[in-house]
Amino acid sequence: MKRQLFLSPHVHVYEVEYGGHFTKVLHHAIFNYCYFLTGESWKSLWGLITKGELSYMELPVEKLIREHILVPSGYSAGALVDHLLRTTDYLNRPSIGIIYVAFSTKCNLACDYCFVMNNMPDSYAPTNTNNIQFDQIRNWLASFLQTKDDRIEDKLSIIGYGGEPLLSYQKLDALFSELKYASSNSRVLDFELITNGTLINESAVEFIKRHNVRLAVSIDGPKIVHDTHRRTRENKGTFDLITKNLSRLAENDIHFGISITLTDDNRSVLSNFVRSLQSRFGVQSVGINLMLYGGNDSPRAKPTLDNRALQEAYLASKAIGVYEDRLGRKVDAFNKKGSVYHKDCGALGHQIVIDPDGSIRPCQAFLGSKLHILGHVNTHCPQDILESEELASWTHICPLRRQQCQSCPAVGMCGNGCVFDSEMRRGSLYEVNEPFCYHTLESLQFCLKEAYMESVEKRGMTAPDISAVGIQDRTFQYSEMYERR
Ligand code: SF4
Ligand code: SF4
Repeated sequence: MKRQLFLSPHVHVYEVEYGGHFTKVLHHAIFNYCYFLTGESWKSLWGLITKGELSYMELPVEKLIREHILVPSGYSAGALVDHLLRTTDYLNRPSIGIIYVAFSTKCNLACDYCFVMNNMPDSYAPTNTNNIQFDQIRNWLASFLQTKDDRIEDKLSIIGYGGEPLLSYQKLDALFSELKYASSNSRVLDFELITNGTLINESAVEFIKRHNVRLAVSIDGPKIVHDTHRRTRENKGTFDLITKNLSRLAENDIHFGISITLTDDNRSVLSNFVRSLQSRFGVQSVGINLMLYGGNDSPRAKPTLDNRALQEAYLASKAIGVYEDRLGRKVDAFNKKGSVYHKDCGALGHQIVIDPDGSIRPCQAFLGSKLHILGHVNTHCPQDILESEELASWTHICPLRRQQCQSCPAVGMCGNGCVFDSEMRRGSLYEVNEPFCYHTLESLQFCLKEAYMESVEKRGMTAPDISAVGIQDRTFQYSEMYERR
């Protein structure tokens, strides 16, 4: 029996070219299902779409229907989006799994691109938690951990932040001990620090070992590159000090990840730098950060160059068994067929941040401002925070809720990007963020090429170098055969 099927409006048709051969790629933008079709298979599928006939039965048509690649007449793409938005729990209610604690907004460095410091008013003076505030914050967090509420996850990461968190490590030490005790019958905790790496002395090492703290240390490249941006308040470079401290961590068997901010100065050296980190310190993971908005005078992101450098560094890291997190998380999302990567950022309902004075907010980048405060440890109990309207509206943010994103070819691996950056550049948390869009779309192209190379290898052929593969979105050529709503 003839049955007419259509390509779902969420399916994009790409053409991959390599060495004069053309392969069609079908990619479902929401679920990331992906098929590579030779000329014959594409002809067969096209026959089914245009005449309701398959010329031969090589294609797994039932599977393509189950995966929403082929859809019957009357199929509603909007209904699929509504269904996902309605039934995905964490898009509709907070689910807290991360707590940032900043006991000080003070930092011993003066990096020129710091998005926290550069967005503070000129009159801003760094603040520290005093002893009374410390007791209030500690008691509030202990009660948060003991609160029975399914909007708080069973496993929580407590992250020391700042400013530089090791400036107040004695407070963090006392807090972590207290929280371990408070959560012993309720929740599993792990501890983390995001540090500039300059203050890792012997006492800090003891503290790190005592609580099994995971570390993310910022270092941007070889000495000449790193010292360009990451300097002390006395204008001295910090590379030598940080690498000495990384050696101390390695000698003490403490694993750490590295956080690198992409600048004009380190793009061309990233791959070699990751290799040197691995051979010198045994580093197993790196995160390469795209520059966030740090005011008009601070260094700017350059999306085309940044993404090219990121992809090269990702491949170089992968080749030596190091996980690169920035592109790595997009690749993971692309490879997780059938599930949608709705959120790339914890601030969208997955985390809270405690300021030095006990204010509570969703995002650490607004530290030092009066913006986006959900409540305060003195006046709001954990339930008040979980029920806050502002937290609900951050939780609600998701690309699928935006009309313009619903037709984006990368919507299923986007995760929305950084809403702080959106507010700084576009004046609203809810706006799309062009540099992150560019990164996501480039990441999709990269994933499609990687998947194509794997498919070539599976057919027993030698995979080409990724830079030799060309890919183009041909969706528009076939769009009249889509069942549009
Ligand atoms: S909004 Fe941006 S700065 Fe804030 S937590 Fe999310 S990614 Fe980080
Ligand atoms: S935010 Fe940008 S990349 Fe993400 S779905 Fe929307 S348009 Fe696509």
